[in-house]
Amino acid sequence: MPSICVNCGGMPTIKAHIVPAGIGRLIRGKGSGNLKITQGKAEPTQLGIFDKNILCEACDNYIGKHDDYAIRHIRNFREKCTRKPGKQFIHPSIDCKKFSMFLLSVVWRASKSQRPALKHFSLGEFEKEIGDVIFGRKAIDYLDNVNIFVCLYKLRFPALKLLYSLPNSGIDDGALIVGFTMPGMGIRIYIGDHSDLKFTNNIAINRSSIMRGLYREFENTADGQELLRLFRGD
Ligand SMILES: [Zn+2]
Repeated sequence: MPSICVNCGGMPTIKAHIVPAGIGRLIRGKGSGNLKITQGKAEPTQLGIFDKNILCEACDNYIGKHDDYAIRHIRNFREKCTRKPGKQFIHPSIDCKKFSMFLLSVVWRASKSQRPALKHFSLGEFEKEIGDVIFGRKAIDYLDNVNIFVCLYKLRFPALKLLYSLPNSGIDDGALIVGFTMPGMGIRIYIGDHSDLKFTNNIAINRSSIMRGLYREFENTADGQELLRLFRGD
């Protein structure tokens, strides 16, 4: 049976990228193959993973605006950042809400997709309200249970800029925590109440006008561990 668009019910559906192809192109342009990490497994990829059964062309284009905005800024994100005390960075010229809409679009598409790599990933009861926000039916401030954090990886190995991953999730302290890697940066989205948030609320980018975050050692992240394992050939 032909599939219908999960947003508007329209037909036909088209090839919708979960992580936009533009992210893959950013990386490919740097003269190396892409690596993608799925469910903790790293593998080479071309232009990422897509799903032919979730979105019609109009809806894919609508949230594609969020992708376009972010891709323009991810290209030279690191160069634009200023170091601040306390291992913090500030990016002076990103519209935090627009960038947040991109990150929410990635996780929403991943949640809707039934592709094998994403079958187990779901935003659960939050999928609908996040969909309402990325499709403009509700303002992003409506998501008072969502906190989005961006960290910049300290890159001891420049090759680590050539990496992105699909979203993974876990439950911690009653909250759903979604994590993934974009080129050179780590994304963490807390959905629901979590005790850590008392301390970090002020740098959640979806409720801030200035993009700020922390520098982190990539090797200490789940994606970093997987990549080290791959390089060692374990
Ligand atoms: Zn549609």
